[in-house]
Amino acid sequence: MMDLTIKNGRIIDPSIARDEIADLYVVDGRISARPSGAECETIDARNLVVAPGLIDIHVHLREPGQSHKETVETGSQAAAAGGFSSIVCMPNTDPPADNASTIAWITDRARACAAVNVYPTGAITKGLSGQEMASIGSMVQAGIVAITDDGHCVQNHEMMRRAVEYARMFDLAVMDHCQDYDMVGSGVMHEGYWSTVLGLAGWPRTAEEIVVARNILLAELCNTRIHCQHLSSGGSVRLLRDARARGIPVTGELCPHHIALTDEFVSSFDTNYKMNPPLRAREDVEALIEGVADGTITILGSDHAPHAFFEKEVEFDRAPFGILGLETELGLFLTILVHRTKAIDLNRLITMYTVNPATLVRLPKGTLGVGADADITMIDPDLEWTFRKQDSFSLSRNTPFDGWELKGRAVRTIVAGKTIWKA
Ligand SMILES: [Zn+2]
Repeated sequence: MMDLTIKNGRIIDPSIARDEIADLYVVDGRISARPSGAECETIDARNLVVAPGLIDIHVHLREPGQSHKETVETGSQAAAAGGFSSIVCMPNTDPPADNASTIAWITDRARACAAVNVYPTGAITKGLSGQEMASIGSMVQAGIVAITDDGHCVQNHEMMRRAVEYARMFDLAVMDHCQDYDMVGSGVMHEGYWSTVLGLAGWPRTAEEIVVARNILLAELCNTRIHCQHLSSGGSVRLLRDARARGIPVTGELCPHHIALTDEFVSSFDTNYKMNPPLRAREDVEALIEGVADGTITILGSDHAPHAFFEKEVEFDRAPFGILGLETELGLFLTILVHRTKAIDLNRLITMYTVNPATLVRLPKGTLGVGADADITMIDPDLEWTFRKQDSFSLSRNTPFDGWELKGRAVRTIVAGKTIWKA
C-alpha cells in the first residue's frame, strides 16, 4: 500500500475544529503531520470536502441467516459506495446476535470479507424476546459496541432498567427502537388521515413517544446514555429537546426517509414506502428538521434494511418493514438538510456522521487527527446525480428513491489509507 497526499481539499474535521483548504498526508495507513518520504500517490481534492470516514450507526447486514437479502460483504460494499468507512450492525439476524459466539462469527466474517470497518451490536434480551437478559458481559468481550433489540423493543420497563444498569458497568451505549407493541398492534402505516382513507391499520406516533419518554426517565434514573433510534415523530423531538436541556444523557437519530417522504406516499401501496417506524405527516417532517437544526437530534443514520424482491412484492399488510439506505443517505441529507432547507451546514452534517456516533459508541474513529487511522471520505457537496437502484452494491433493491435527483455525494472512500471505492 502506497502512502497518500490528498491535495487542496477543504478539510472538515469537527473533532479538532478544523475547516480549511489544505493538504492531508497519509503514511503507513495513518494520518500524518508531514508528507511521506517515500514514493506516494497524490489525489487532487480541489473543490472537494475531505472529511473523516463517515460512520453509519444503524445498518442491517442480515448475516448470519438471511444472506439472500444481504451479506457482510455486499452490505459493506454498499457502505463504501455511500461514503461510509465504518458501520454498526444490528443484532436482529437469524439466529439473533445475542451471544458471544454469534458476535465472534460476525467479527470473523467482517475481517474476512468486509470492505469497511464493521462494529457489531448485541441484543439486549435473549432471542430479542424481551423476556430474559442476554449475556451482555461476554458479548462485550467479543467486541460489541452497544446493545439494542432493534427491530424489537423491550416492553418490560424493569427489564430495560436492569439492562441499562448492566450496560453502565461496561460504559456501553444502549440503543432502542422505540415502539409500544400494544399501541401499534397490527399497524402498518402512520395512524392519521391517509391510514383512514386507505383502510390500513394505523401505527400512532404516541406509540413511539411513550417509549422515548420511558427511555428519558431511565437515562435519568441510571445516569447512562440511551440512544433513541430512527425517530419519526414530532412529539419525540419535543420530549428529547426538554430532556437534553435538563442534561439527561439521551440522544436521537434521524433516517433520511422520515424527512424525504410522508405517509401520503403510501397511497401508491408500493411496499417500498413501508418502514418501521412509519413515514409520518408533514408536521412531523418539519419538527424533525427543526430538531436537527437546533441540535436536539445529533446523529444521522440509514436503518439500511435490505429485503428480497419476492418478500416485498406482496400485499402492503404482509410486506416486511424497511428499505435500503447506505447509498442514498448522504445524498438525501445533503439535498434536504444542507441545500434545500439549510437546517445545517456541511460542518454540522459531518459532525453528525463522525464525532457524534463515535462518541456514543466509543469508536476510535471519526477524526483526522495526527496518528488516527486514515479513514477518509471525500465528498462533492454540489455534485448533481441521479440514484439508480440497478447500480446498487446491495443484494436487494428495495428502495423508494430509484431515479431521484440528488445534490451532493461521496466520491471516494478510504479505509486505513486504502481507496476502497471511488465514483
Ligand atoms: Zn428499528
